[in-house]
Amino acid sequence: MDTVDTENQVGRNQLSSRTALNLAGRTLWHLPGRFAIARLLGPQLSLRCVLFHDVSDEESSFTKGLGGTITRKNFEAALKFITRHYTPVSLQEVLADSDGRALPPRPVLVTFDDAYASVSEFAAPLCLKFGVPAVFFVNGSCLDNQHLALDNLVCYVANVCGLGIINAAAHVAGGTKDIELRSMTEVFARFLPAISLSARQVFRDALLQLARINESNLAEEARLYLSSQQLRDLATFDFEIGNHTYTHANCRALFAGDFADEVDKNKMVLEATSDTKVKSFSVPYGSSADLTSDLVAHLHRSGYDAVFLSESRANPSCPDRFRLDRVSLRTGSDGVLFSEIEILPRLRTIRKSLFGAASKGSYGRVPQLENLRQSAFPPNSEEGVGIGAEASRANPEARKKRLVQHHSLR
Ligand SMILES: [Zn+2]
Repeated sequence: MDTVDTENQVGRNQLSSRTALNLAGRTLWHLPGRFAIARLLGPQLSLRCVLFHDVSDEESSFTKGLGGTITRKNFEAALKFITRHYTPVSLQEVLADSDGRALPPRPVLVTFDDAYASVSEFAAPLCLKFGVPAVFFVNGSCLDNQHLALDNLVCYVANVCGLGIINAAAHVAGGTKDIELRSMTEVFARFLPAISLSARQVFRDALLQLARINESNLAEEARLYLSSQQLRDLATFDFEIGNHTYTHANCRALFAGDFADEVDKNKMVLEATSDTKVKSFSVPYGSSADLTSDLVAHLHRSGYDAVFLSESRANPSCPDRFRLDRVSLRTGSDGVLFSEIEILPRLRTIRKSLFGAASKGSYGRVPQLENLRQSAFPPNSEEGVGIGAEASRANPEARKKRLVQHHSLR
């Protein structure tokens, strides 16, 4: 069975088991005592953290296939669900809860990653309307739309030009023509986590050159991200501003010397622009494999109070504030939201405690990257992670669409 077949088979298996679990969750939602029943799966669950990215009715060439867009209608429905059945809390309240007992019943912390302009234009006003505090994690290099995040650039090139140019750029960055990337999932889950920060820059430059893109023109035209003024406005309304690295880097590729440019510089830019203190950090791509011991030590030394992942597992009642897990939401249906927030994170936590982390090669091996990986990382680095893998855990439909798109792009 080749890589594509393996990927499809894994996709189908994940899709069917997830569909079955969501169906069970939706059925539970209609039963009396549904939260008490859910507690049977893990009574220790307390703080729920949820994650949104882009809030938009249509995916653009920059976001189609990333699996991070929720429609405005679904976002509003999700906020209504949260305010009706949970208690939205602020980061301050979470940090003040020293023993896990001070938070109100069923606390939920709402967060946004990647600083899309849509969060200021639509999500933040709705959060204000419903009285929901939130944390916005921002990449300083994207502020004011002079640059594109690499994820959006890859997405744009794949959607507009096809995967050929992405492979050609990967050959330049990897120094070998033995790399074959057959889907965006492979780019995000395999290729990007495996290359160094400098190779990432070479890949980015090659993409721009080969696709004949003038980045500043394209970024300005797309207006994907927050402006400095919008960031200031968010801070003015008491929303928390958090660090998401300067360029949305894969943190496992950062050496201690890189923290100044990716972590400290971003904090400085965000604090200077928003005039607030940045005290939380969200790991780009959300994988614990990117939360290296060096990064944790650096964040501790730099005075951060909280670090967020997005592996969609349940947080225990007194969680480690440097490993707060979040669930990515893209639906507005009560039954599915109940399943996504209340049931699936508990089941994933049980699965992890029984079987450990996801097995290697979940998305099929890409043998050409093994050499790159071995040179860049210790042998026990987790595989099968990144925005593609994370989005596929969070949203099977996105994964299905990507697999369809993968074939249409070939
Ligand atoms: Zn991100």
